[in-house]
Amino acid sequence: MQAPTISIPRLRVAANGRVIVPGDTHYDQTRTVFYGGFDRRPAAIVRAADATDVARVVQFARETGLELAVRSGGHSLAGHSTTDGGVVLDLGDMKALEIDPRNRTAWAQTGLTAGEYTTAAAAHGLATGFGDTASVGIGGITLGGGIGYLVRKHGLTIDDLLAAEIVTADAELRYVDAQRHPDLFWAIRGGGGNFGVAIRFRFRLHQVDRVLGGMLMLPASPEVVAAFIAQAQAAPEELSTIANIMPAPPLPFVPPAQHGRLVVMALMAYAGKAEAGERAIAPFRVIASPIVDLLRPMPYPQLYPPEDDSYHPMTVGTTMFIDRVDLAVAETILKRLEASDAAVRVAQLRVLGGAMARVPAEATAFAHRTSRIMVNLAAFYDGPQDRAVRQAWVADFAAALRQGDAGAYVNFLGDEGAARVQDAYPGPTWDRLVEIKRRYDPTNLFRLNQNIPPATESPRV
Ligand SMILES: Cc1cc2nc3c(=O)[nH]c(=O)nc-3n(C[C@H](O)[C@H](O)[C@H](O)COP(=O)(O)OP(=O)(O)OC[C@H]3O[C@@H](n4cnc5c(N)ncnc54)[C@H](O)[C@@H]3O)c2cc1C
Repeated sequence: MQAPTISIPRLRVAANGRVIVPGDTHYDQTRTVFYGGFDRRPAAIVRAADATDVARVVQFARETGLELAVRSGGHSLAGHSTTDGGVVLDLGDMKALEIDPRNRTAWAQTGLTAGEYTTAAAAHGLATGFGDTASVGIGGITLGGGIGYLVRKHGLTIDDLLAAEIVTADAELRYVDAQRHPDLFWAIRGGGGNFGVAIRFRFRLHQVDRVLGGMLMLPASPEVVAAFIAQAQAAPEELSTIANIMPAPPLPFVPPAQHGRLVVMALMAYAGKAEAGERAIAPFRVIASPIVDLLRPMPYPQLYPPEDDSYHPMTVGTTMFIDRVDLAVAETILKRLEASDAAVRVAQLRVLGGAMARVPAEATAFAHRTSRIMVNLAAFYDGPQDRAVRQAWVADFAAALRQGDAGAYVNFLGDEGAARVQDAYPGPTWDRLVEIKRRYDPTNLFRLNQNIPPATESPRV
């Protein structure tokens, strides 16, 4: 390795943004990520101001060999956007957004959160689909795929990605789209942060003004769970649903008698005309007598409830795809949830299909186009011993649910090992990704992620 030409003190002087090191006033605040349980102490956190800063940090990491963590919204489930002793490249100050309402496109810097982008676009009656949480960064969610409230109507977030500016491992800023670096453009649509640091994305926007949406809570029984999923699969594509099967949280609008009892807490969004939405939602309201019915017409950004910045849950979880939820599967879900005493535990079911499924599997690095239902299992834990208990519960639960689909959605993977990363990129997708990685990041500089090692060092496991 060549002698570094940059040191942290020099970086501090040269950077246009802030460089925060241990002992600085904001060090503890800026090293904190969304999930608790990742108490890591970076040597420096660079709050980049522009692409030049990003290139400098990439160069710095290459020359020093220090571990590089790239952070947009800080919501990595595996703690990948922080590091012990390495450098965090934090894009959170880069929030420029240019919306072109006439052409329905937007250039967005990757420090924006899904909520910030969505609120600004909604001022024009427009939207690009992200996920279910406002504080998630557009950097991480986009690069992994993006499954949210518009998935059945408009597809994944990457299906609306038209171009990107990305600093690759050689510290060069590249413009990528279907014509320029098409291989890289293919890889960043699902391949995560493996190929460089995305500075800006160019998105397509859709006309999405008001939606009929919000929360519907039903009592959970095998019949209700199975009927909910059957109905979600039969619903028009305008309707996307996220069914959280979990003990009812003690929220003010939940009757106290229900607190702690298993419920289907469904988050729903119908992106279309209100009357048609009412017709689409009506069958869900009669599956069982609703405990809470907050479904109503609303501006699209209101699907994102307010969040508490001091909320840092410690969770374990996993993700998988299944093909069906019949009575037996629904019964298994409820039994497993009943068997745990974790303070919060959830089986989240998202019915897929629609626009997402019409894109060919090989068109992007997200290959799970025909997967039917995504399942995310999660439990809160309290300390290392409890973590092991909850982790075992998650693993047993996942094994009990496994059907034919061995895939995984990269953005909901925790720190689950190399084989699981390959589950996210089956067969030819993996082969193509490792080859592109070899060309653009041969030394695996971008390795603190759901890692795709370059071709030479990546035998199939
Ligand atoms: C509460 C919660 C709700 C969620 N809901 C959804 C959902 O509804 N739908 C869904 O699809 N996903 C969802 N996710 C998963 C989410 O998409 C991933 O955790 C995603 O990686 C978070 O992005 P981030 O930028 O906030 O995270 P970060 O931790 O900042 O980044 C995660 C990783 O992405 C890479 N990365 C981020 N920004 C860049 C960049 N600009 N350039 C290069 N690499 C970058 C890095 O490898 C980094 O380690 C949710 C996660 C949480 C915690």
